[in-house]
Amino acid sequence: MGRIRLRAPAKINWTLDVKGRRADGYHEVEMLMQSISFWDDIVLTEYDNGIQVFSNSAGMPLDENNLAAKAARLVKDYFGITTGIHIHIQKNIPIAAGLAGGSTDAAAVLVGLNVLWKLGLTRSGLAELGAVLGADVPFCIHGGTAIARGIGEKLTPLPDLEAIPLVLIKPPFGVSTASVYNGLDIEQIPFHPDWKTVYDLLAQGNLRLLRCHMGNVLESVTTNIHPEINEIKARLDETGAAAAMMTGSGPAVFGVFETISDAQQAAEILKRHYSQVFVASSHGRGVEITKGGSL
Ligand code: ATP
Repeated sequence: MGRIRLRAPAKINWTLDVKGRRADGYHEVEMLMQSISFWDDIVLTEYDNGIQVFSNSAGMPLDENNLAAKAARLVKDYFGITTGIHIHIQKNIPIAAGLAGGSTDAAAVLVGLNVLWKLGLTRSGLAELGAVLGADVPFCIHGGTAIARGIGEKLTPLPDLEAIPLVLIKPPFGVSTASVYNGLDIEQIPFHPDWKTVYDLLAQGNLRLLRCHMGNVLESVTTNIHPEINEIKARLDETGAAAAMMTGSGPAVFGVFETISDAQQAAEILKRHYSQVFVASSHGRGVEITKGGSL
């Protein structure tokens, strides 16, 4: 029975803009996306039949509603595969945080099963297949730095950035992405971030100017429900972050630091106030196979 191990990295948004609302209710977005060096560890093991999910986390469904199980179901149905799969998820990425935790687990299952079951798909083929599971799945498969348009599934990759140190804080509550988008009044968006300016600043290492240009149009919606997000940003400022912003629909917030030791020192201080504080950095890869094959 075959077995494969994978890393499924989280993402942050350097920018998140909403351009309009489609007839089907989904929002047209433009986002500067970044994978980060903070991942769930996934092990896929073949067995007789069916799909089973195991995890250290009780905070997400472990039945067929887990996004990783949905990814396995998609592959099994699409390719008519009868072999079963055990999916073990070591959940490190906080759930319902705006870090694409579910999407990256699904992406890892697609990448892993492609190798285990010799499906012969490229990363782009997998991304196309995975888009039906969620708009962030294609980005999680490719990873790195990219512009995401459409509902998030249309990707334009950008040259990799140097590793930029980050501190992530997850407050002790989650938010539903759908409810945040529903609370957004597109006509009232006060500032549309310009991803190109932000990317250029990041590529130049000009982090101090980031705070004037980074922007997430969902931040005010989530902050209206959870004003604690502003407190977190203020604390990141106090501990020396060059810039701080909510990622995705939140509520996780990231701070950008000049050096990894600055980030580590800030994290030690922030741990006095928050139980979920993580040091990471921007990372040039999406899902990676760590044992059992390559793609
Ligand atoms: P995004 O940034 O893509 O909007 P998110 O990081 O805000 O996503 P997730 O962590 O993906 O949110 O969780 C969203 C919902 O998906 C939660 O209600 C969670 O229970 C459910 N879920 C299903 N499968 C998973 C999974 N493998 N990992 C995390 N959440 C999952």
